[in-house]
Amino acid sequence: MEELRCMRCGAPLTVDPESLIDICDYCGYPNIIVSDFGPSLIHVVPSLPRSDVENKFYEAARSDPQLSKFRDLEVIEITGAYHPAWYASLKGTVTASWQITQYEQRGKRVVARKAYLREVKNISRRVFLPARRRIPSSAVRDVLAGYIVKSSKTIPLVQEDYEWEKIKLEFLGVEVGKGEAVRIMIDKLVDALRSEYRARGEKLDFFSAKVSEVTDLKLVYVPVWSVTYVVGGASYTAVLDGYDGYCVYRSEPLTATERLARMLGGLALSMVSGSLFATTATVVGFENSLLVLGGLTLAAYSIGRSIVESARVERA
Ligand SMILES: [Zn+2]
Repeated sequence: MEELRCMRCGAPLTVDPESLIDICDYCGYPNIIVSDFGPSLIHVVPSLPRSDVENKFYEAARSDPQLSKFRDLEVIEITGAYHPAWYASLKGTVTASWQITQYEQRGKRVVARKAYLREVKNISRRVFLPARRRIPSSAVRDVLAGYIVKSSKTIPLVQEDYEWEKIKLEFLGVEVGKGEAVRIMIDKLVDALRSEYRARGEKLDFFSAKVSEVTDLKLVYVPVWSVTYVVGGASYTAVLDGYDGYCVYRSEPLTATERLARMLGGLALSMVSGSLFATTATVVGFENSLLVLGGLTLAAYSIGRSIVESARVERA
């Protein structure tokens, strides 16, 4: 096989056969191998350096009621990588009609009555789709969602005067091209909207959604760090957003009761935040790893994993 070389500096490229882009190990230039898009669509969320990520982890561990009890906490490994994902704003129109049953108190009797509702509405949603075939973990998805929630600043990958050496991380291969990404994002948004409307009543009589505009389409590399640490003789992992060092996930020494409480918390989270979040959070499959960010999902994101107390109230 012919050896591929960097278009910019001529260094040999180590190309993953699945990947559509190869970032040069020497100069950081994005060499597009096979694709339906140009380098101007590619952006990077710059990562904090490794030492800052480590400090952020220790900071989070110190303020954690579980972890701060342990004296022997030690980080044994830290690895970071840029995960690629497609982001876009989709605009369109939804037309739907559905039925609900309304109950009215009439004297001592409760009367049920069918109501027919109809809505024509313009919609505008920001969505993202991981650009790899493997389903990312929910922690990685949280970091990818964080790019939208935090409006993280990005730099174009083609910008030459940036100090790329300082934040050099592995760039994971891009396996989904622009055309496929746009098609999947539109299909999945329509599916998500259909289930939103289905959840409004007992019967969805009519539903049609048309996406007429795709704007702000970008392929963004988002930095995700994974920290392996040892505490009380066992090892655990944490996942941090490389943009600001926020710890999105931490496996911890937990008692059985605590584990159960968390599980119930997660369950209640999908209940309180509606069917949309439940759909996106529970279905499995690459195409379903799209996350549609509506208000409820944003709320769920900021509530994060500390929902246990409020979840118990919800379930009471
Ligand atoms: Zn190069």
